[in-house]
Amino acid sequence: MRIHHLNCGTDCPLGGAVFDGRSIAPLGRLVCHCLLIETAAHGLVLVDTGYGLRDVAHPYGGPHPRITRPWRWMLNIRLREAETAIRQIEALGHRAEDVRHIIVTHLDFDHAGGLEDFPNATVHVMAREYDDATGPHAGIVARNRWRHPQLDGVTRWRRYGAAGEPWFGFDAVRDLDGLPPEILLVPLPGHTWGHAGVAIRRDDGGWMLHAGDAYFYRGEMRGARRHCTPGLRAYQRLMEVDATQRMTNQDRLRRLSIERRGTVSIACAHDAVELERCQAGRPL
Ligand SMILES: [Zn+2]
Repeated sequence: MRIHHLNCGTDCPLGGAVFDGRSIAPLGRLVCHCLLIETAAHGLVLVDTGYGLRDVAHPYGGPHPRITRPWRWMLNIRLREAETAIRQIEALGHRAEDVRHIIVTHLDFDHAGGLEDFPNATVHVMAREYDDATGPHAGIVARNRWRHPQLDGVTRWRRYGAAGEPWFGFDAVRDLDGLPPEILLVPLPGHTWGHAGVAIRRDDGGWMLHAGDAYFYRGEMRGARRHCTPGLRAYQRLMEVDATQRMTNQDRLRRLSIERRGTVSIACAHDAVELERCQAGRPL
């Protein structure tokens, strides 16, 4: 299986390094790290979608039916057609129909915006995430994070409940419908209740774990002490549904990243340095 690392959306929040830990300019840079997996027998598999064509079709200024104004401003979201998963997949020589499966870490607006660009794909998601995202929303954060207009057009859902397959000490869901056993969902609640990472067994025997929004900053992994920028600390706190579960899962991931260094490479959805290193074939 070949894994491509794509950036399917860019946010440039005011604060620069207060968010991304490295920008000298007043605007930071966060990415939407998605994976495109070329499988031998199961077509193309996408992990998360970032922003989609229908998101970028709405210019700044006016109301946006799919991404709410407070979050557009807070994150200073750049909506660029060339960054959508569909356009990047086409640039690699494929068509939308070639994407047969999409696995989503969760259904926040910056992960699910491109689902409708792949009408032939089955969308794999934890059942709790589906219920929370598509049901009625209580509270400001829920109304802004889960956007029905991004999800209404998706018809082929596959939802998963119980996770009982062991994966490096985590409970995982193996045997995703129509997918090879080398691709697993690893529930990591805290950011949302139905949030999950996606683990992929690489051809070299190691693993790639897309950790979604289980953490946001590269310094939160691979070191004995957690390090996170103030901006991303605050954003993670704003978006969490449960602080204890989020931090417990982050601690477990950090231990995994240390103990299995060399076997498991981990990247989250929004750290640009992690994405660049994955694209260069030298993950952190
Ligand atoms: Zn996110």
